[in-house]
Amino acid sequence: MDFRVLLLGGTAEAARLARELSRWPGVQLITSLAGRVRTPALPPGQVRIGGFGGRAGLAGWLREHRIAAVIDATHPFAAGITAAAAGAAGQLRVPFVLLRRPGWQAGPGDDWHWCGSPDEAATRLPGLGRRAFLTTGRTGLAAFAALDDVWLLLRTIEPVEPPGPPARCEAVLGRGPFTVPGELDLLRRHRIDVLVTKDSGGQASAAKLVAARRLGLPVLLLRRPPLPAAPAMRVVTTGAEVLSWLHGVLGAGGQGR
Ligand code: NAP
Repeated sequence: MDFRVLLLGGTAEAARLARELSRWPGVQLITSLAGRVRTPALPPGQVRIGGFGGRAGLAGWLREHRIAAVIDATHPFAAGITAAAAGAAGQLRVPFVLLRRPGWQAGPGDDWHWCGSPDEAATRLPGLGRRAFLTTGRTGLAAFAALDDVWLLLRTIEPVEPPGPPARCEAVLGRGPFTVPGELDLLRRHRIDVLVTKDSGGQASAAKLVAARRLGLPVLLLRRPPLPAAPAMRVVTTGAEVLSWLHGVLGAGGQGR
C-alpha cells in the first residue's frame, strides 16, 4: 500500500514540494489548501480544499485517511493550522515536519521597526509617516481602520471582503513574485513614505524591502507568531531538508522522525 503523506500548502515552497513528491514511487501525496484564494494554482497530485475543523477535526481526518506523515509547508503567519497540525500529529504519533523559511534580516541602510501585532503597528505608524504601503494582508486590517491621519495603499491577493478597505485607503490587487523596479514605481507613484509589512521571509515578496531601503523609507515589520511547543516536531528551513526527512521516515518504515 502507498505511504500517504499530507502536505499542508498555500505557499510556493509547498507547490515545489508537491511537484517533487508527486513523482516519488510508493508515496501518495495529498496537498491541502485553505481555500482562501478563489482561483488557486493547483499543484500536481491529489488536492483537497478547506479547513479540517481545528485540531480534533484534523486528527480525525488523519486517522480516516491513514496518513503516515505530515508536512507543514504553510506560511509563517498561518499559526492556526500549524498549531492544529502539530497537536494532531503529536496526538496520533504521526511523523511531522514543519518547513519554516528564514525570516528577513535588516542590512545596512535599513530603517526597520519591529512590532508584535497589527495594533502596535497601527499605534506607531503615525510617528513614522503619512502615506503608508500596507502589505500585511486582510487579517489585522481592522487595526488600521481607525487611523484618520495616515493614508493607506493596501495590497492584497484577493479583494477585501465587506465592510471593505478602511476610509482614506486605496486598494490594489497583486500576487508575487514582485520586482524591485515594480515596487519602486508603486512607492513613488503613490508618494509612499512608510512601509508596513510582516516578516514573511523568502524572495517572492522581498523586493518591497529593497525598494524601501533605496528610497530611505522606514519599515514597520510584524514579528512572526511563535512556533507551537511540540517536542516531536522537526523544524527545517528548506525543501531539501523536508525531502531528506521524508526519506528517513520512509526508511524507518514510517515510524522515524
Ligand atoms: P491560519 O490562520 O493558520 O488558518 C486559519 C484556518 O484555515 C485554520 O485553522 C484551518 O481551518 C484553515 N487552514 C489554513 N491553512 C490550511 C490548509 N493548508 N489546509 C486546510 N485548511 C487550512 O492561516 P491563514 O493565515 O488564514 O492562511 C491560510 C492559508 O493561506 C495557509 O494555508 C497559508 O499557507 C496560506 N498563506 C497565508 C499567508 C498569510 O500571510 N497568513 C500568506 C500566503 C499564504 P480549520 O481550523 O477548520 O482546519
